Formats: sequence, structure tokens, C-alpha cells
Amino acid sequence: MSPFPEAHGGAGLSAASKQHELCTVLRLIGGGDLSWARLFEGHVNAVSLVCRYGTETQVRSLANAVAGGALSAVWGADDAAGLKIVLVDGRVELNGCKILASGAGMLTRPIVTAMATDGQVMCLLDLADDAEVDLSGWAAQGMRSTATGAVQLTGIKIGNDERVGAAGDFMRQPHFSGGSWRFCAAHLGAMERLVDLFREHLVSRKRADDPYQLQRVADCVAAVTTARFWIEEAARRLGAEEDDAASIVAFANMTRMVTERAALDVMEAVQRGVGLMAFIRPSPIERICRDLATYLRQPVPDLAMSDASKAWLNSNTPVGEF
Ligand SMILES: Cc1cc2nc3c(=O)[nH]c(=O)nc-3n(C[C@H](O)[C@H](O)[C@H](O)COP(=O)(O)OP(=O)(O)OC[C@H]3O[C@@H](n4cnc5c(N)ncnc54)[C@H](O)[C@@H]3O)c2cc1C
Repeated sequence: MSPFPEAHGGAGLSAASKQHELCTVLRLIGGGDLSWARLFEGHVNAVSLVCRYGTETQVRSLANAVAGGALSAVWGADDAAGLKIVLVDGRVELNGCKILASGAGMLTRPIVTAMATDGQVMCLLDLADDAEVDLSGWAAQGMRSTATGAVQLTGIKIGNDERVGAAGDFMRQPHFSGGSWRFCAAHLGAMERLVDLFREHLVSRKRADDPYQLQRVADCVAAVTTARFWIEEAARRLGAEEDDAASIVAFANMTRMVTERAALDVMEAVQRGVGLMAFIRPSPIERICRDLATYLRQPVPDLAMSDASKAWLNSNTPVGEF
């Protein structure tokens, strides 16, 4: 319930003024289990979208379902055909499926994006427990517990209760790209846990005085702290909306780059500093690295980085005020 407004029984975590608290929650969950962080992040994203673009009735309907144990998600990824809203015998319904849908078979109140005659729209669904799900393709290295797979949605009726907002709202900026700080916060939580585990290893094995290990520790602490400063600032800027949308998005895109680099550096340092034990189950380091390496793969990272570069190059903003 935490992302819902207090009036709907939540803690208001999706509100602009609570982005710092949300960042802390995502870090903490990410440090415990990245799969759960992915599911929670998707739930927060969905609740935020319904609160921002949906009707009071839709917010109440979702809040009641969640209070009863349901979880939401945002399922945007499409196969080649794409999910469409079509007219069949005078009835408006979905045609197609969603792929890479986290919580497939577990979550009943997802938001799905679908193509309608007026453009891309969001639909808040109420799935049956026996929805047709295919998890056979989810043989990923990590993040297995997210139950990410394909969900068949053909035939689901779409009316005013299901359609959330207007066509184009899903990708409206700055929230579409600006919200990427949330998955960065989950990644950061996992990085922070790795660094703590590295310290435990060095101290318990009496290897903490070695100058090479001290260098790795310094690099790790600097990397996670740098990432945290960027992520907290990206969250603050999206919540405050003091800057124009393009600037908020550029900062969030740069934050993605910083976070990915920090995570790759921390994993390399911890794996080299711990050695073979970091690759042997049930070491938590092995599990976290497997999950983090998988979850780090987010859409179009090159484009996010290059768009951020272009945004600054094409501005007159001194770099100190980026
Ligand atoms: C654990 C997990 C859970 C997920 N859950 C969900 C979910 O619930 N809902 C959902 O909608 N999605 C989900 N996804 C999918 C996610 O949103 C992305 O679609 C997916 O992670 C994209 O990864 P990718 O590496 O294939 O991205 P890509 O964008 O294909 O990037 C791969 C590489 O190709 C480059 N690239 C991209 N486009 C081009 C181009 N045109 N030309 C040249 N290079 C290009 C990129 O910069 C990058 O280097 C999940 C993903 C993961 C890992």
C-alpha cells in the first residue's frame, strides 16, 4: 500500500515530496533481494501512473485490490506484433500479448501499454488467476524469482474503467525517463550490500590490511557513494520539477550511466578481491552479482547516455550547473 496517497490507505511514497524516502526504501529492498526490488519498483511505477493520469475511481479500485493482497506492475515490452486494442463484433478488446512481464502469473492488476487508434494507451487490467502465462523463456542468469515471462491478453474487454489517462501519457516526460532513478536505486542497494559483504570477508579472513585490498575498498566506497549522490539528486529533481522536462530527463539519463558504471566496477572489484569464493553458491556475493548483472540490462543505455550528452552540448549551461 505504501505508494498510495494517505487518503487511500498508503504512505504517499509515490508523491513528489516523498522521493527521498522512496529512494531509501528501494535501496533497502535492493540490498535484500533484487527480484523483490524489481517487483516493488514495477508496483510503485504502476501506482504512480494511476495516481497521475487515472480517475479517482481507478485509484480507489486499485487501492482496494492492493489492500486485499493484489500487486500491480507495468508491462510495456512487446513482441513483434505488439499488443493492440481492436474492435471485435462491436466489442473493444485487447489482441496480443506482453513479453518480459515481471510477476507473470502472480500479479493480477498490471498496467499494460497497447496501441489504439489514437495512439499508445495504458490499460489497468484485472486478470483472472488462471491467465495464460509462459515462463519457459525466462532462463536468465539472474533475477529468476521475478517470474518474468509472456502473458496472453487477447479477448480482454477494454472500457473506460480500464483505460488510464489519454493516449501518449505513458511516455510523457519528464516522468517516463526521469523515473529511471528508481531502478538505479534498486541497483544501488545491491551494490551497497556487495561492498558490506566485501568488508565482512576481508575482516573475517584478516586480509583488510593489504594495500591492494584497501585500494579496492576505497574504489568501492567511492563508487557507491557517487552513485547515491547522483540517484538521490535525480529523484529530487524529478520530485521538485523546478527544471524543464528535458533537463530532468538528461540528468536521469546521466544517472543511469553513472549507476551502471559504478555497479560494473563494484562487481569487478569485489569478485577480484574475494576471489573464487565469490562464484560459489551459496555465497550471497554470487547471487547478488548474478542478479545485478542481469537487472543492469535496461532499455537503450547507449541512447540514454548519448541523449544526455547532446542535451548538455546543445545548451549554454556551465557544466557546474548541469
Ligand atoms: C529482470 C527484468 C525484469 C523485467 N521486467 C519487465 C516488466 O515487468 N515489464 C516490461 O515492460 N519490461 C520488463 N523488462 C524488460 C526491460 O524493460 C527492457 O525491455 C530490457 O531489459 C531491455 O534490455 P536489452 O538489453 O534487451 O535492451 P536493448 O535496448 O535492446 O539494449 C541492448 C543493447 O543494444 C543497444 N541498442 C538498443 N537499440 C539499438 C539500436 N536501435 N541500434 C543499435 N544499438 C541499439 C543498447 O544501447 C544496448 O547496448 C525486464 C527486464 C529485466 C532484466
